[in-house]
Amino acid sequence: MTGVILASLPFGRLGGVQGPTSTSLRDRYGRVVTYLRVSVTDRCNLRCFYCLPRGGEPRCRLDPLSLSEIAEIVRGGVELGIGKIRITGGEPLVRPGVVGLIRDLYALPGITDLALSTNGTLLTEHAADLKAAGLMRVNVSLDSLQPAVFHAISGRRDLDRVVAGIVAARDVGLTPIKLNVVVMRGVNDGELPAILDFASAHGAQVRFIEYMPLGLGQRWEASYVPRNQILERIRPYLADAAPRRRPGDTAAYYPLRTSGDVGVISPVSCRFCDLCNRLRLTADGYLRPCLTSEGQVDLRPALRPHLRREVIADRFRIATAGRPLHGAYDASNDRPAAVRPMAAIGG
Ligand code: SAM
Repeated sequence: MTGVILASLPFGRLGGVQGPTSTSLRDRYGRVVTYLRVSVTDRCNLRCFYCLPRGGEPRCRLDPLSLSEIAEIVRGGVELGIGKIRITGGEPLVRPGVVGLIRDLYALPGITDLALSTNGTLLTEHAADLKAAGLMRVNVSLDSLQPAVFHAISGRRDLDRVVAGIVAARDVGLTPIKLNVVVMRGVNDGELPAILDFASAHGAQVRFIEYMPLGLGQRWEASYVPRNQILERIRPYLADAAPRRRPGDTAAYYPLRTSGDVGVISPVSCRFCDLCNRLRLTADGYLRPCLTSEGQVDLRPALRPHLRREVIADRFRIATAGRPLHGAYDASNDRPAAVRPMAAIGG
C-alpha cells in the first residue's frame, strides 16, 4: 500500500474497515458512492475571489492527467457502480478536447447522468457540440446580474457572455439548467430576488450556495450568509410548503409561489454528509474522499507506466473506505478548516 495514501486518511488499516463488495463502493458508514466529480483542469478564465483566494493561477502539483487517462479512471468507477459523472474544474471548457472526452464517457455502459459545471463564458461556442457528444445538462455559475458586481467577483467583464451561454445551452437542450449562486453578504445578497426572476425568464433553476471557507486568506466570516438568512431574503417568493430533498442531491428545494422551486445548498450551517454519495477526481490524478478533508489517493501508479485496471479499482475502494463521517468544517467552529481552494480540487 506504500504510496497510496498521501495524506492522512481518517481510517486505520483497510483490513479493519467493513469493506465494499467488489461491485459496489460502500463506505464504512453504509453510504454508497454513485457519483464522481471529474476535474479536467485546475485552470480557469475567471478569477473569482472566493475560488482563487490568493489571486493566482493554481498549478497542478504534478502533470495533469491526459484525457484518455481520465476516461480510463471514469471507466473504472463506472464498473464499480458509479453512474453519475460531472465534468468540472477550474473551468472545464478551457481544456482542449473536453468535447471528445464527453463523447468517450457517454459511450460507457452504466452512465446514467453526464453533466458539466461551467462558468458559462465559453458555452456559446461549445453548447451544440457538447450536446451532440452526449452531455445531458449543465450547471452554470452566475453570482451576479450586475456587470460591476460580476466584475468585482470574477475579475472579468464577461457577464454578457455568460448570459448568452445560458441561452445557447437552453436552446440546444442541455437542460434542466441549474444556476449556481454563491451568496456573499454585501456583495450579491441583495440580488437574490432578481436572480430568481432571471432564472424564471430563462427556464432555469437557481441554487443558492452558502459561501464555504475553502482556502486561506479569505475574509470568509464577514461575507458568509447562512441558509436561514438566504431564505429570509427570498421569503416573498417562497410558497408555504416544506422543502424537499431529492436522493443524492445536496440541495434542499423550496417550492416557489409561482412554479418550480429554488435550491439551497448549505454545506456550512447544515451539513448533509449523511447524503454524500460522491468522490472527486482532481486534474492531477488524485481521488479525494471528501471536499473538506485533506486525504487523497494517488491514481497515477495505476496508469503509468502502463494501465492496470485492477489497481484503479483498488484505489476507488481505498478512497471510498477513507470517506469521513463528516467534513472538516462547520460554522460553530471559531476557525473553520482552511483546506485547498475549490479551483485546486475541482468544484
Ligand atoms: N468553472 C466551473 C464553474 O464556474 O461552475 C466549475 C468549477 S467551480 C470551482 C464549481 C463551483 O464551485 C462554482 O459554482 C463555484 O461558485 C463554487 N465555489 C467555489 N469556491 C466556493 C466557495 N468558497 N464557496 C462556495 N462555492 C464555491
